[in-house]
Amino acid sequence: MEQKPLLKVEGLKKYFPIKKGLLGRTAGYVKAVDDISFHVNKGETLGIVGESGCGKSTTGRVLMRLLEPTEGTVEFDGRELTDLSAGDMRKVRRDIQMVFQDPYASLNPRHTIGKILEEPLIVHGISHAKERKKTVNKFLEIVGLSAYHAKRYPHQFSGGQRQRVGIARALMTNPKLIIADEPVSALDVSIQAQVLNLMQDLQKEFDLTYIFIAHDLGVVRHISDRVGVMYLGRIVEIAPSEQLYAEPLHPYTRALLSAVPIPDPDYQKEQVTIEGDIPSPANPPSGCTFHTRCPFKMDVCTKVTPQLMEQQNGHSVACHLYSEQAGTDIAWKEKEMEGSV
Ligand code: SF4
Repeated sequence: MEQKPLLKVEGLKKYFPIKKGLLGRTAGYVKAVDDISFHVNKGETLGIVGESGCGKSTTGRVLMRLLEPTEGTVEFDGRELTDLSAGDMRKVRRDIQMVFQDPYASLNPRHTIGKILEEPLIVHGISHAKERKKTVNKFLEIVGLSAYHAKRYPHQFSGGQRQRVGIARALMTNPKLIIADEPVSALDVSIQAQVLNLMQDLQKEFDLTYIFIAHDLGVVRHISDRVGVMYLGRIVEIAPSEQLYAEPLHPYTRALLSAVPIPDPDYQKEQVTIEGDIPSPANPPSGCTFHTRCPFKMDVCTKVTPQLMEQQNGHSVACHLYSEQAGTDIAWKEKEMEGSV
């Protein structure tokens, strides 16, 4: 039986206007998220990966409507979110919570951990003071801290402990979906594994669905059921985790994977290197936006934007190397190399 997605995103765009002159004329747009579609099934983890500036964090914020989308639809648990009033959206946020990269910046330094954790319960009108205290203590213990930590302030915690507090805060309203935006990027490698394990345990215990945003394919490997790779505001490849790591198709994914260290000296992996920086989303390259850095670039790539197309069971890629059109182009290239044209 086909699973019904908890979240279904269609044609989502977020363009930021570039204002110029004294009158604030709109001179163009930064296309931070440019027409992306994906779904997340209940209980699964979708990893979203890409370099900084690729639009992955903006996507997370648009899904929660912390930023208003320019276009597109976001269906969550059977409800369209993009046309909800601010009041209705506030209620939905009980079910969608966020964990941020820098827990210190997202925790009020003047409030005790107890007060910070109590806040979402107050905002959403959940429980009375005594009950709230009990819930706070319960969740502190669930994330591996203790009830006595409730009296302490954020600066009295280590980075890993603060991220545990961030996770506890996200859990307070009993959400269905957690959007974790680079939740372990600021932590030491040894602590990263602990936080990732905790998140996996909590997912089972509370039947959670995750969107896990990261800039490194290594981090999301073990936690994700499926992974989407973003480049300049678009999803260029999306696939079940195992398939993506075993058989990446898009040259950008292959390059990102080349950079992930594998702790096995006998393992021979493909090396795809890309040069240069990610171009500005205010002035993206024509055709395939990756063509300025792609070692496999063909003529067609500079002119035609490749669409995300399914190649095999749930594995889709947006690259002309896999489209019929490119088939002709490649055949032509091969002939050219053989000297027959
Ligand atoms: Fe490279 Fe062309 Fe594929 Fe873009 S469409 S990734 S430029 S081969």
